[in-house]
Amino acid sequence: MKKIILCKFGEIALKGANRAYFEKLLKVELKKRLRAFGKFKIYSAQSTVYIEPLEDGCDMDAAYTSAKNTFGVSAVQMALEAPKDMDAILEAVRTDFMPYIEDAKTFKVEAKRSDKKFPLESPEICKLVGGVILEACHGRKKVDVHNPEVAVRVEIRDYAAYICAGQERAIGGMPQGSNGKGLLLLSGGIDSPVAGYLMAKRGVKIECLHFESFPYTSERAKEKVLALANKVAAYAGEMHVHIISLTHIQEVMRDTIDEDYFTLLLRRFMMRLAMKVANDHWCESVITGESIGQVASQTMQALVVTDIMADRPVFRPLIGNDKDDIIKIAREIDTFETSILPYEDCCTVFTPRHPKTRPELAKVEAEEAKLDVEALVAEAYDSLYTVTVDGIE
Ligand code: ATP
Ligand code: MG
Repeated sequence: MKKIILCKFGEIALKGANRAYFEKLLKVELKKRLRAFGKFKIYSAQSTVYIEPLEDGCDMDAAYTSAKNTFGVSAVQMALEAPKDMDAILEAVRTDFMPYIEDAKTFKVEAKRSDKKFPLESPEICKLVGGVILEACHGRKKVDVHNPEVAVRVEIRDYAAYICAGQERAIGGMPQGSNGKGLLLLSGGIDSPVAGYLMAKRGVKIECLHFESFPYTSERAKEKVLALANKVAAYAGEMHVHIISLTHIQEVMRDTIDEDYFTLLLRRFMMRLAMKVANDHWCESVITGESIGQVASQTMQALVVTDIMADRPVFRPLIGNDKDDIIKIAREIDTFETSILPYEDCCTVFTPRHPKTRPELAKVEAEEAKLDVEALVAEAYDSLYTVTVDGIE
């Protein structure tokens, strides 16, 4: 009997006329991700994507885990496919299905009959399948309809019948690329990888921009950022990481401006450069890991002074989150341990002792006027180089 993976849609199922577009993106993404685990046929029907192995050597467990972590999938089931015939279904339960529920002491059977032409109704299907399981387990399992360890599910669908041991919640979200492209400002900290992950989960294709300040920041600091990008790419798919050097800008600022404005002006430079990268790489928005009040540059007034430089939306998905909440997600997506490695960031080089927390725009602009902003931006932009990460460790 053939094993098959069923992926249930989340929000896609609620879409109207453009639903086929979302389904297609999800199938394309699954095809890409599962290539490493064998040859599969991937198709959709009835709010479900079917992942069917086409050869013996397919790694079904790896495919299942990968599907479970694919944005757009809300639940996954490892199922047995049987012909749409009650005797064949019962035979499949008897001969092949029992290992699926080996460890469970209690069970119940649920049936769903999407194909209304199937001659038996759901309660009858449940009764027959339950009977076969009780017989096959020789008294080692009991029926518990209220609180079973496993819910055996029999689904009679268009193509075939499917028997599975419950379904598992998957990652949810929207298929990759279904909601535009965003340029993630990625530091080596805890917040920005989480911000990128959350936007990718909503279907936003992610491109990254990292600022370095060599030799004030080290090669190891950059490797850490690329490792973080790779962890985000495990969910978000292959990503480009653009890297720009801020060394000269920072040295000129150190020698020219009032120290208290250093971070604010640096962030305005970052924003200007981000706009250029976003424009050249067709990113409709910029994403940061900022959270209101977290540090001096993330007060409402400071954010206003930086945002003025933006010519497209700047999304800050963590703006209302406490650090503890952010850390929780960072642990879930396995970026936390990398984020806390103690390497310097360009933002921590030459930090002012008394940064402005309530900056006035006019004063910021007056300080900035001491610099040849255009030339500094152009020169920094020339230092851009790009690394691609594929999410595979
Ligand atoms: P994170 O916010 O990622 O934990 P952090 O706390 O060290 O890192 P902040 O000083 O809070 O960084 O910076 C706020 C945001 O600015 C970051 O979330 C990130 O989006 C962006 N940012 C900071 N440093 C860099 C950098 N070197 N390259 C690109 N973006 C950066
Ligand atoms: Mg931060």
